[in-house]
Amino acid sequence: MLEVTDLTVRYGPHMTALDHCSLSCPASGVVAVLGSNGAGKTTLMRAISGVLDHHGGRVAGGRITFRGETITGRDPAWIVGSGVVQVPEGRRVFAGMTVEDNLRAGAVRAGSRSVRAQAYDRVHALFPVLAERRDQRAGLLSGGEQQMLAIGRGLMSEPDMLLLDEPSLGLAPKMVEHIGRVVTEIRAQGTAVLLVEQNAAMALSIADHAYVMEAGTVALEGDAADLEASDEVRARYLGDPRGPEPTTTGRGRSLSVWVP
Ligand code: ATP
Repeated sequence: MLEVTDLTVRYGPHMTALDHCSLSCPASGVVAVLGSNGAGKTTLMRAISGVLDHHGGRVAGGRITFRGETITGRDPAWIVGSGVVQVPEGRRVFAGMTVEDNLRAGAVRAGSRSVRAQAYDRVHALFPVLAERRDQRAGLLSGGEQQMLAIGRGLMSEPDMLLLDEPSLGLAPKMVEHIGRVVTEIRAQGTAVLLVEQNAAMALSIADHAYVMEAGTVALEGDAADLEASDEVRARYLGDPRGPEPTTTGRGRSLSVWVP
């Protein structure tokens, strides 16, 4: 459903953040994008959702298609209208607005009152706490609740594909587990998810397929279960001392791509 082909992104004249990066996401399931700080994960999300120029970036090569239609260079609102919705890193909720108003602000694709009511029902079923706190200001919620609100707001426009940028960032382990279960439920309800995470253990446990990015390119790609079992990934991203040294260029067990 989503195809990123040979995408190169630059900030200013000299900073190449993505360098011929390619990946694809099917119409259902969870695809994870892993990688350490500065690997280019957020830049990839910005490029897909069309907000690069707000951050001083631009697509310098390649293209992105959604259901066969090119979305590179399209207006962000058009991209949302086509069914791709991003939940940005750092749970950017509207702190001074109520929980209810934050959700309403996300309902940009809901054409009628009944569609919006359905979306509320879905979000409240996934996150009962948001129904309980509907009249509270979002800034008073805990970090985990704000993350739920940010995801809920994204779901209000009933996306076909949800882009989640580091939903586990700064959350306690129990809340990370909870967010993982929610992502699994969202996927079971038929919404495809592209999940960017530094928490490789969490992401690989819920994803079907995963890409590992390094320095703006895809370094590894494979089934999430295979990557989780690979010595290479265990050593580099899961902190498993039984894996090989991080400097090795040997192949992991079942990786379909390895670019040293
Ligand atoms: P993190 O997990 O820390 O968010 P990331 O994998 O998401 O990292 P990006 O934020 O996409 O990585 O950054 C990729 C590269 O682009 C980094 O070298 C970063 O410093 C640079 N970069 C990101 N945003 C900008 C910007 N607005 N202007 C200039 N350079 C940027």
